[in-house]
Amino acid sequence: MIKLNNRGNLIIISGPTCAGKASVINKLLETRENTVCPVSYTSRPMRKGEVDGVDYHFISKEKFEEKIKNNEFLEYAKVRYGEYFGTPKKEVEDLLNTGKDIILEIDVHGAAQIKKLFPETILIFILAPSMEELKRRIIARGADTKIDQIIDRFQTAYKEINKVNDYNYVVVNDVLENAVEKVNSILISEKCRVDRIEELDVQNQEEFMHELLIDKNFTH
Ligand code: 5GP
Repeated sequence: MIKLNNRGNLIIISGPTCAGKASVINKLLETRENTVCPVSYTSRPMRKGEVDGVDYHFISKEKFEEKIKNNEFLEYAKVRYGEYFGTPKKEVEDLLNTGKDIILEIDVHGAAQIKKLFPETILIFILAPSMEELKRRIIARGADTKIDQIIDRFQTAYKEINKVNDYNYVVVNDVLENAVEKVNSILISEKCRVDRIEELDVQNQEEFMHELLIDKNFTH
């Protein structure tokens, strides 16, 4: 009776540092079928515990700039400390044809570039419950030992939060499971949008009523 277009969604998840984007995405990848998250490229140094090809493809600045010249990125930005981050073009284009939901964890500049290329992109912004909590998480993460790096993270966080109105959805990550459930619900709802209707075949009303009356043997 009704056929909905089941094409995959392109979803961007952004948000300030330590808002918990990666944890939300990892849970979604564990629990949702047909959901993928292509690995970005970066010129920033690898942190303790990170794995090349899993967290990022870690490459030098020179190699990154070569890839920019060769038009290998769908978008890229210098996110922090002048380090590049970029989304591989070919991989995303190939995935778009598979019908899978593609999640990109990228910053607000990258999000704006992708939205221009693909206006149907769903933009989700993840926030920590408060700036106090964000401060606690940044310090607890311990990845940035130098005070100027902590300040830089804060300044970037404030700039990013000011872009929240450019997004379609905002999810506060207070309890991880709740945040995951909210993002999952958004993705499910997006598949039920009326603009996904491809065919709507409703039986003629008179015919339908006639059959109904005969079936039930209604008498006047
Ligand atoms: P981190 O250094 O903690 O891994 O993250 C740095 C920032 O870079 C995060 O805000 C993350 O969303 C962003 N980022 C990660 N990958 C990409 C990408 O491919 N493109 C852009 N524009 N930003 C990215």
